[in-house]
Amino acid sequence: MPGEPQADCLFCKIVKGEIPATVVRETETTVAFRDINPQAPTHVLVIPRLHYPDAASLAAAEPTVLADVLREAGEVAEQEKVAGTGYRVVFNTGAGAGQTVFHAHAHVLGGRGLEWPPG
Ligand code: AMP
Ligand code: ZN
Repeated sequence: MPGEPQADCLFCKIVKGEIPATVVRETETTVAFRDINPQAPTHVLVIPRLHYPDAASLAAAEPTVLADVLREAGEVAEQEKVAGTGYRVVFNTGAGAGQTVFHAHAHVLGGRGLEWPPG
């Protein structure tokens, strides 16, 4: 079934509590936790509890949950005190763009200068 947990998915295991994570916020539909390999002083991942392989497939199937992910990205930025200085929300999509975990997730990056265009 679309959205069902996948046995071999790292982020489904974090949702279920089978793998530890430093959780900073949780809602009924989302979990936000610190990236294990941070690329900025603030680097938090916001994921839906439902399993979809990327943000576009989540948006197509569950648009309100994708909206929840984005709202939570903003809440994380406020909580981490990077909203004022500016932050970036990134959805790497596809291996060629650096996606390594195929469970939709938003990177929230802040706390340092962020170049444009991104690399
Ligand atoms: P992406 O490369 O866009 O698919 O992002 C996956 C992110 O997950 C990377 O930034 C990893 O550092 C991060 N990551 C991998 N394993 C874990 C973990 N166990 N806990 C927290 N973050 C993780
Ligand atoms: Zn998953």
